Order: sequence, then structure tokens, then C-alpha cells
Amino acid sequence: MKEDARRALQLQLQQLRNGFAEAIPEKMAEIDAAWARVAGGEERRSGSGEAEYQFLYRIAHSLVGNSGTFGFNDLSECARALEHALADKVPQDKLQQLIANLREAAARAMRLSPPLAEYSDFPLTDFNAAANSGQAPMVLLVDDDEFFSGELLLQLEGYGYRVKHCRTLADVPAALEREMPAALVMDIIHPEGELAGPLFLSNLINQGNTLPPTLFISVRDDLSARLEAVRAGGLGYFTKPLEMPQLIARLEVLVGYRGPEPYRILMIEDSATESTHYAHVLRRAGMQVTVVSNPLQVMEPLLTERPDLVLMDLYMPGCSGLELATVIRQQDAFMGIPIVFLSSETDVDRQMSGLSMGGDDFLEKPISPEHLVASLAARVTRARLLRANMNRDSLTGLLNHGNFKYQLKLELSRAARRQGSLALAVIDIDDFKQVNDTYGHPVGDRVIRSLTRHLQQQLRETDILGRLGGDEFGAILLDTDEEGAKGRLDSIREAFAAHHYRGLDSVSEAEPFAISFSCGVSGFPGKTNVGADPEALLVLTDQALLEAKLQGRNRIVVAGA
Ligand code: GH3
Ligand code: MG
Repeated sequence: MKEDARRALQLQLQQLRNGFAEAIPEKMAEIDAAWARVAGGEERRSGSGEAEYQFLYRIAHSLVGNSGTFGFNDLSECARALEHALADKVPQDKLQQLIANLREAAARAMRLSPPLAEYSDFPLTDFNAAANSGQAPMVLLVDDDEFFSGELLLQLEGYGYRVKHCRTLADVPAALEREMPAALVMDIIHPEGELAGPLFLSNLINQGNTLPPTLFISVRDDLSARLEAVRAGGLGYFTKPLEMPQLIARLEVLVGYRGPEPYRILMIEDSATESTHYAHVLRRAGMQVTVVSNPLQVMEPLLTERPDLVLMDLYMPGCSGLELATVIRQQDAFMGIPIVFLSSETDVDRQMSGLSMGGDDFLEKPISPEHLVASLAARVTRARLLRANMNRDSLTGLLNHGNFKYQLKLELSRAARRQGSLALAVIDIDDFKQVNDTYGHPVGDRVIRSLTRHLQQQLRETDILGRLGGDEFGAILLDTDEEGAKGRLDSIREAFAAHHYRGLDSVSEAEPFAISFSCGVSGFPGKTNVGADPEALLVLTDQALLEAKLQGRNRIVVAGA
């Protein structure tokens, strides 16, 4: 991250923290007043103290999170001790002592400004750099296992990174010299030794070299390997077989690169100080954050903002986080949405009950910015992947639109890397509305399934099929150019058009009917040179399809022919 950007972030966080520090005397006055009422009221009427205890508990609880968030750890711990003592109903003299401790910690907190180490360690990158340069960020992969590297490379490319690969450690300095990568992904074990990767990097650092943020990957999962990775400045450690969503999530934090769609977070938090702080941290990491301060108003933004993840406190006025999570989960549309609790609750039983009510994760306040961002990013990435995988089309069992496009992206980068080829076809049934109108929807469905079978049987097993929408299909033909694809699809077209269907009632049953499709085809590398861009290739193919319809249907048009 650029130095001035870092300084700006520090300044903003400092301001937030100052705001909190200024409010400490007020908080302490509230505690003192409540305590005076507890101490004075007890002799008069038993039970009158209960509300005051509750009140004290809430203030102490909010202090635990707030003060921890802003680095006042001493104050946070004293507040936590008081919170537990109140919950355990300890005798008054004990409480008195804890409140005195808290008062002292508060005084210290106001005098001293705790170091901002936590913030300055946050490896934020300049998020706009990659986007502004128009180039995908580059990841340097250092791994000697050819097969493993090939697969990982492909996956990283699928997630939108440019990847360079070094097979030996000796190649690394020259690669760094050529282009400074946005991140380094390095194996621990190399032919030079069982810890050669991190030792090599440590050596480079000792020689005064600047290294990009580094993630280590390894089959080793022992302490000495992890330790050496940390010594070499590793910001993440992932064991093989890799869990890609986690690795990608961490990379995205380090590199600051997001795909086309920023992660959308809906935060429900009644404390303005805290929501400002956390929203700030998440926005700095490129996420879109919507803050709702009243939990009862959550439904509207859930629908309008379509968040990827809900982040909420466990304790809020009006309803508890547990209740809210249950309400959200009971609606089909939000069944899959990750819900993460962010709370100063340390009681494991209560944390567990949060998870059993439909929460996905429990993050304890205070939490470092990096940990928060990484946890949420991992959740969102995984949720997005799951969603893509779950959504196969129910009528045909083919990939749905989103998943088909994802596969297209993967296959294009694979083909680009291996200098291979592929053809993309978009197929649309001709006058399909008439089939529905004349014979009814069930017959229309039968036609759709019939075309699916034709395609499945006559394309290669490795080819990829998707249903792009109503009567529109997509096919990716691997290692094929557009002419080859046209030839194969033409024979499918003829077979499909020769098939006769019958209606369901006695009149239409007597009169079988035939139906055809039109198709647009384009290729990679192809005649039109749009490159390995899935969107551009789809547009091109759609245009060819339109041309086929205009020329009279039941035909195939090749883009750029
Ligand atoms: P064209 O030759 O220009 O493609 O004409 P068309 O009649 O096929 O027009 P279009 O592709 O726009 O029509 C698609 C129709 O497919 C509209 C919709 O009612 C119907 N449809 C969409 N999904 C389904 C489905 O799952 N089952 C059935 N039976 N029909 C569907
Ligand atoms: Mg159609």
C-alpha cells in the first residue's frame, strides 16, 4: 500500500479512536451512577437492584468490545472482569473493587494513547492500482511439482489472477526482478531441503530485498514448518490439498483485488462507534457495507442490497441476534446466506447456541482488521462458490447460466495457457413459443429435454453443456475450432429437426410436428480475435445466433465468417 494511503487510514482510525476515548468519562459516570443506586437501594427493597445490575452488565459488555476494538486492551479486560462478576452475582465488595479497577483503567486509557500497531500491521494494498492499470494482478507461484502447479495455476487464473510460475528457487530472484508480483505463493519443500522455501525467502529478506506478501503452501503441517514460514514473513499457511476458497480469500485480502463484483456485507450493529469502525475496515478492503442500526429494519436491505453475508452482534435492542438469525434463515431466499456473529461474548455455550440457531461463524471482539476481513472474505467466497455449484438447472440437469459462464472462463484460461482451442455455441429453439401455445407447456418441456439428450449424446463427454435460459443452451466444445464445431452441431441440428413430436390430446396426437434450432458459434483463438474474454465471446456468439435467426432459422452461423 502506498505510504500516504496508509497514513490516511491511520488518521481515520485514530479519529475514530479519539471519539471513543472522549466518550469514556461519560460511560464511567453512567457506571458510577448505576453503582450508587445499587449500593444505596439494596437495603430498602430487594429486587430493585436487578434492573441496575442489568444496566451495569450492558455497559460493561459494550465496553469490552468497544475498548478492545480501539486497542484499549487494559480497559477491555477490566470491563470483562466486571461483566463476568455481574453475571455471577458476586458479593458487592468484590464488585466495588472491580469498578474501582475499571475506573483506574479508564483514567489510564484517557492519559495514554495505545499504539496503533494492530492497524499499521494490516497489509492493505492500494486496491485501485490493479483495477486502474487494467491488468489483473500477478501471482508468482513457486512450486516444483509440475502437476500440482498446473492445476493451481489454472484455478488462480480462473479467479482472475495472472500467474507466473517458477519451478526452482534459483529462478525466483530473476522473476521478482522482471515484475514485482502482487503476491507470492510458495511451497515449503524443495529439492534443496525440507524447509528450503521459507529459508530461501528469509535469506532474500536478510540481504535487504523487498518481497511481496507471501503465502506458503505445503503438505507439511508441523510446527517447525509453520514457524519457519512465519519467520520468512508468511502471511498465510495452507496445507495441501488446498482449500481454494480460503486461499483465494486470503490472496484477495493481501492483493486487494476483487473480481468484478465487490463483496456485499450487511452489518447490523446498534453502536454507531463500532459500526463506523468495522464498516471502515471492510470498505478499505474493497467490500460494500450497508449498516443497519435497528435490527427490526433488516428485511428491506436484505432484499434490496442482496448481501453476500450478514454480520451482526449477538445483543441488540429490540431482538437478539439469535432471534434475528432464525427469522432470516426461515425465509427460503436467505437460507444460504452466511450469518456471522461479531460479539464480545466469551461464553462458549452462548457462542455455540448462536451457531446452532443458524449462525455460521462466531468472531470475538476485539478482532484485528486483518482477521475480520479474512474471515468474512473466506465465508463469502465459499458461499458464492456453493451457490454456483448448487444451481444446476432442474429441468435438464445442465449447468445453469452462472456456472456455465464460470466454466467458460476456466476453459478459456486453460486453452490460452496451453495454446489450445475451443468453440462456444449458443443454441436457441426456433419458434418455441408456438410449441407452448399450441401443445401446452408440458410438451414444450419435453422438447427441451429432448434437445438436451441430443446434445449430450452427440457431443463429447468432456464438452460442457449449460442451459442459459428458457429455450437457450450453451455448449463449450474443447480442442475444436469453429468450423469443426459447426460440422458437429450441424449433424445434431439435422437429427433434432428430423425428430417428430406428438401433442398430448387426441387431436394433436394424430399430427406429429417437428421443430428446429438455430445456433451461433465462435472460437478461441478464433476468427474475430476477441481473446480469452468470456463476456466478449458470449456477445459475439449471441450476435451470430441472431444472424442465424434473421437468415431464416434452422441454421448455424459462425461469428466472423
Ligand atoms: P425464436 O425462434 O425467435 O427463438 O422464437 P421463440 O418462439 O423461440 O422465442 P423465444 O426464444 O423468445 O421464446 C422462448 C419461449 O420459451 C418463451 C417461454 O414461454 C418459453 N419457455 C421458457 N422456459 C420454458 C420452460 O422451462 N418450459 C417451457 N415449456 N417453455 C419455456
Ligand atoms: Mg427461441
